[in-house]
Amino acid sequence: AHLVSIDDVDMRYGGAEGTLAVSGLAMRVDKGDFAAVVGPSGCGKSTLMKLVTGLHIPQVGTVIVAGQHVTQPVSIVGMAFQNPTMLPWRTTLENILLPLEIVERHRHRLRANRREYIEKVEHLLELVGLKGFGAKFPWQLSGGMQQRANLCRALIHEPELLMLDEPFGALDAFTREELWCVIRDLHAAQGVTIVLVTHDLREAAFLADKIFVMSARPGRILKEHRVPFERPRD
Ligand code: ADP
Ligand code: ADP
Repeated sequence: AHLVSIDDVDMRYGGAEGTLAVSGLAMRVDKGDFAAVVGPSGCGKSTLMKLVTGLHIPQVGTVIVAGQHVTQPVSIVGMAFQNPTMLPWRTTLENILLPLEIVERHRHRLRANRREYIEKVEHLLELVGLKGFGAKFPWQLSGGMQQRANLCRALIHEPELLMLDEPFGALDAFTREELWCVIRDLHAAQGVTIVLVTHDLREAAFLADKIFVMSARPGRILKEHRVPFERPRD
């Protein structure tokens, strides 16, 4: 069975006369995939992310994640968006622990064994090159470092699916490529399924093993490529 199955989805914003953001959207992602979704600005990439995570429910069609119809925000999914949204009054470590405080089945374990979870955070911080920064507040970190911490927070509850919406958008080219390697290693090491939304084709080709290309509004999937690309036949 597919981990993510989207079929014939229409999503319209702002009522019956509003913007049809995606139409006839269909997509499948399998366990262990690293999928990228590419397309021009405004084609509905973020909408697709929100449909999979249950932040939006479509008017038409079905979204199934891990065998369940998505009708509300999904707790087996980790999310990281373009702008890191860390709480300024909490340290980096406390920010990364947040999903555990929210997801019911982790909350009891967190209370019972905080030490174990702090070690998990420290391990993740080390993976993303932030060893020793857990006690800093977000505003004491650079933009790139906050993006890394954001990734740790998306991973702390061991999601089956990691949804990344332009997570490197605000970074300089050098930091971005360093984080590409971090993500690629995470995918290889932890076997988490990843869906990455980006308008950067180079980023998609470097990271993903499946690339979905979306059309301009209303968005739908035009093509699915396997990477490495097959040589076009003439
Ligand atoms: P992308 O992520 O590819 O840039 P989006 O999914 O953000 O595209 O947007 C797809 C379309 O839906 C765009 O035309 C956008 O203007 C519109 N849209 C997105 N969010 C809203 C919203 N909350 N209200 C109204 N229109 C929206
Ligand atoms: P940017 O987001 O500005 O591109 P990076 O995330 O690449 O920066 O950070 C560059 C390096 O600068 C980091 O790896 C870190 O060693 C150092 N650095 C940045 N901010 C701090 C800080 N607040 N405390 C300690 N070192 C920092």
